Amino acid sequence: MVIVGAGECGVRAALALREQGFAGSVTLIGCEPHLPYERPPLSKELMTGSDGPAPKTIATRERLDEAGIRLFSPAEVRSIDRAGKAVSLSDGSARPYEKLLLATGASPRRLAIAQASRRTVYLRTYDDALAIRGNLVAGLRLAVIGGGFIGLELAASARRRGCPVTVIEALPRILMRGVAAEIAEIVQQTHAANGVHIRCGEAVQAIGDVGDGVRITLGSGASLEADLLIVGVGAVPNVGLAEAAGLGIDNGIAVDATLATSDPDIFAAGDCCSFPLAIYGGRRVRLESWRNAQEQGTLAAANMLGAGEGHSAVPWFWSDQYDLTLQIAGLADEGVETVRREVGEGAFILFHLATDGRLVAASGIGPGNSVARDIRLAEMMIARRLHPPREKLAAADTKLKALLAA
Ligand code: FAD
Repeated sequence: MVIVGAGECGVRAALALREQGFAGSVTLIGCEPHLPYERPPLSKELMTGSDGPAPKTIATRERLDEAGIRLFSPAEVRSIDRAGKAVSLSDGSARPYEKLLLATGASPRRLAIAQASRRTVYLRTYDDALAIRGNLVAGLRLAVIGGGFIGLELAASARRRGCPVTVIEALPRILMRGVAAEIAEIVQQTHAANGVHIRCGEAVQAIGDVGDGVRITLGSGASLEADLLIVGVGAVPNVGLAEAAGLGIDNGIAVDATLATSDPDIFAAGDCCSFPLAIYGGRRVRLESWRNAQEQGTLAAANMLGAGEGHSAVPWFWSDQYDLTLQIAGLADEGVETVRREVGEGAFILFHLATDGRLVAASGIGPGNSVARDIRLAEMMIARRLHPPREKLAAADTKLKALLAA
């Protein structure tokens, strides 16, 4: 069993192969010069924590050794020989496989107009995070392009480090992709209360270094200067290896419900793949979320061993900004109407219903863990394709557990 990519998904798959009783050879190959680590803290705790910014490892060397998982890193897989069933590595060696898993993740989408700027950076890896953190001293003027999760989490972290922050978003509001306007509004207000200047509906026309800073010229003709510019405009799946090997690509490495690619001996999982989501009638999606990477890693392992199981999980995502946590179960854009439920402490949940009243997603926001329990119950209702009565969803004194049981 050979796994390309030693991130969340690849490591989970390697460990799952052992947990599921596989006793043969497991090889994990990763580009990065670190033990596998968690990415979510990179924009959060790692930016703000006072401790030495060590990466949060997913698995220690001892754990991998104990499980008999051979980790090759840093090593890049350069090509796949499907006929000969082997992968070639950057050091010139080849590794044969019986089953191959591509867990190559995604990379930040680059802005062509920022190419020449040395003060423009992106965040994906621990090394990126260290470089950004090293710059975030009090008073550093930070500009962020992109009002998505990574840009906003970084904005919140930079405020905690005393940096003036401006966020520029081309769309009419922040978090336009997959987050309800009511929730985005709370996020926007919280940023404003913390001193972040958010400019929506502003396309960026030009980016260029000037003196000690970087100048960002906007479509309106206005411009602003910053000491550092972070671009967070989404991620693109790492499909180069799969594409060169002739595997099907469709907004990511295209897999079926069992995570098999167009080659039955090659699987793909995590941020790099698009797959049919059973709870939405097989709608093809690509998810960039920590839990999906874990779940698909486990499922890919089972199917590399011949289980033939289909993906059935409900998507789930979270983001932390200041003392707020936002959680989303399911895909909010599947809903046509929302029902709001107050959870207390200023927290609330929006239930997203389809035309026939079926619960298809739930989004919640509030301090700390305030929405976690209800989102978990909503997720179970979504998985069971329930049609809970609107008035009961809205009534804070109706227990969601009772609706689930009903
Ligand atoms: P990755 O973690 O990207 O791992 C893929 C690995 O494969 C990389 O190390 C890459 O270098 C390696 N690789 C690629 N090609 C090759 C090759 N040819 N040879 C060898 N190795 C290769 N999700 C949430 O749900 N909540 C959050 O709050 C959250 N915060 C995030 C914050 C940040 C800053 C980032 C970047 C992501 C965040 N995510 C969050 C998303 C989550 O971390 C990802 O969905 C998850 O890491 C995906 O795991 P993966 O294993 O599919 O890909």
